[in-house]
Amino acid sequence: MEEEKNKEKFMKEALKQAKKAYDKLEVPVGAVIVKDGKIIARAYNQKEEKNDTTNHAEIMAIKKASKKLNSWRLLDCDMYVTLEPCSMCAGALIQSRIRKVYIGAPDAKTGACGSVLNLLKDYKFNHNVEIENGVLKEECEALLKEFFKELRNLKKKGWNFGHWIWGQLPKTSSPNQKNECKKTNKIENQNFLERN
Ligand SMILES: [Zn+2]
Repeated sequence: MEEEKNKEKFMKEALKQAKKAYDKLEVPVGAVIVKDGKIIARAYNQKEEKNDTTNHAEIMAIKKASKKLNSWRLLDCDMYVTLEPCSMCAGALIQSRIRKVYIGAPDAKTGACGSVLNLLKDYKFNHNVEIENGVLKEECEALLKEFFKELRNLKKKGWNFGHWIWGQLPKTSSPNQKNECKKTNKIENQNFLERN
């Protein structure tokens, strides 16, 4: 019972991180790393912001935890992440010797912890990472669904997300278009956060 509560508590913290990503129009994925019952690292997806495909929440969290512990070996550390890790992140979980990963929503397209493949279970590596799926699954899925719904709505309004996220608007966009875009998102995100 107590363990269940703790799991949800830590996944809620990961969700808070995911919402930070959401507010920045990043795909909302958040992660925290826990050692001895305490959160030692929090991070969210920053791929668009930094224009770096390796800036997934899990990688950022691993970097922060390693810095904090002054070691790349994250022994006795557990990760809580709102979306099933991809193959890059699953690899990093193995490399960093994380003990266990708690996953919120499955990722049918790129998940490497059971959906597309299971890097953590089906192959023989030097380190075995335990998996637990479905922690606050509904909440984690709802956040992603809401995000992609908003993206679709904005695309219908003619916005090209590939270009304008994080101020990378096409050069032809006027300042007004840019502001309207930001305003629209701010309002919609605000509504979303209030509902939750
Ligand atoms: Zn990843």
